Amino acid sequence: MKEILMGYQGEMSLKGLNKHTFEATLMKILRYRLKPLGEFKVYCAQSTFYMEPLEDGIDMDEAFARVSKVFGLAALSRSVVCEKNFETICETAEMYLGDALRDVRTFKVEAKRADKTFPMNSPELMRELGAYLLGKHPHLRVDVKNPQMKVFVEIRDYGAYIHGPKVPGEGGLPVGTSGRGLNLLSGGIDSPVAAWRMARRGMALDHIHFASPPYTSDRAKLKVMALASKISVYTGGCNLFVVPYTKPQEYIRDHAPDVLFTVLMRRSMMRIANKIAGKIGAEALITGESLAQVASQTVKALQCTDAAQDLPVLRPLIGMDKNEIIETSRHTDTFELSILPYEDCCTIFTPPHPKIRPELSEILAAEAEMPGLAELEQEAAETAERIRIRLGEEIEFV
Ligand code: ATP
Ligand code: MG
Repeated sequence: MKEILMGYQGEMSLKGLNKHTFEATLMKILRYRLKPLGEFKVYCAQSTFYMEPLEDGIDMDEAFARVSKVFGLAALSRSVVCEKNFETICETAEMYLGDALRDVRTFKVEAKRADKTFPMNSPELMRELGAYLLGKHPHLRVDVKNPQMKVFVEIRDYGAYIHGPKVPGEGGLPVGTSGRGLNLLSGGIDSPVAAWRMARRGMALDHIHFASPPYTSDRAKLKVMALASKISVYTGGCNLFVVPYTKPQEYIRDHAPDVLFTVLMRRSMMRIANKIAGKIGAEALITGESLAQVASQTVKALQCTDAAQDLPVLRPLIGMDKNEIIETSRHTDTFELSILPYEDCCTIFTPPHPKIRPELSEILAAEAEMPGLAELEQEAAETAERIRIRLGEEIEFV
C-alpha cells in the first residue's frame, strides 16, 4: 500500500491563461521542499497536485508538514492509490482507514468518478463500499448528514484514490508569482507577519534590517536572523541585508528638530531600502506598519514616509489590530521569539513627544538642513552585510 500526498488548488484555479505558470511554479516549490526527504514524483492533473514517493521509508509525516506550509494549496490530504477494481478498493480502504473507523461511531462514504469508464457509478460505489465497511465494523452506523468520519474515494485516470481527511492548507498563491519585495524586518511582532502576508500573495522577498551598534547589540541582529529563518518555511530561503545605520541616525539626531526625528529617520531608512531594492531587483518595500499604532503610523506620517522614495510601500497590516496580528504571529510560530527582549534602532533617540501630524513641507525643510545625510545613507547601503537565510535552518536565540 503506497501513500501519496495530494494538494488542492485554491485561488490559482481561478486564473485564466497564465494558470499553467502558477502551476509550474508551485510544482517547483513542492519538489524543492520534498527533495531533502527522498525522491518524489510531483505532477499536476485536474487542478490537483500529486506527490508520490519513489522510495521506501520516506517520513511522510514530515513530508506532509512541509508541503502544508506551501502557499497556493487550499487543502491537502494523504491518500492511497490502488487499482481501479471494486474488490481492491474495498480491501485498500479497510487497510488504510480501518483503524480510524474503529475509533468512530458514525461514518459515510463519498465517491466521485472522474473516469467514466469505471463500471460502477458514484451512488453504486458509495452504497457497495459502505456495505463492505459496515460488514467489517458492525459497531458503525451510516450518518449521511453529520458523520464523524468520511471515507472519500475518487476514481481518476491514474487509479482509485482513497483519501484520508482533507485539511485546510495555507491558501494564497505560490511564492514567486507576484514579483519580489524587500521587507523591513525589525525584531518585533509585526514585520514577520507582514512578510508572511505578502509571501502569501505570491511575493518572493528578501529582508532588510537596520542595526545601530553599539546602541543595538549583536543579540538583536541574531534575533532578526532567527525570525527570518523561522518565517522561511513560508517565504523560502532569502537574503537578510543588515545595514550599519549608526552614522545616519546620529547625524539626524544632531541636525534635526527633535519632534521630527522619527519621521526623518523613517524616510532615511526608506531611501536606503530603495537603494538595496534596486540592486536586487525588488519592486516594492514591505513594512509591518499598522494605522495609528504609533506616532509614525498616522496617515500624515505615512504620507511623509511614502514621499521619500519611488517604490510602492506595501503595508499588509495597515488595517489589522494588534490582536489579529498576534494571532497570525502565533500561526507563523514567530510570536514567542518576537516577544523576547531586544533593542531596536527605531526606539533609540526617539523624542518623548513626536509630531503626530507632520507636514511634508516642514520635513523637506528639515532635510535641506542636513546636507551630509545623503552621503552617509549611500555609505550605509554600500556596506550592508548580506546574510543568506537557508530554508528551515534553525537559528538559536534564547
Ligand atoms: P515590529 O513589531 O515589527 O517591530 P513596531 O511596531 O515595533 O513593529 P515600528 O518601530 O513602529 O515597529 O516600525 C514599523 C515598521 O518599520 C516595522 O514593522 C518594520 O517593518 C520597520 N522597522 C522598524 N524598525 C526596523 C529596523 N530596525 N530594521 C528594519 N525595519 C524596521
Ligand atoms: Mg508595529
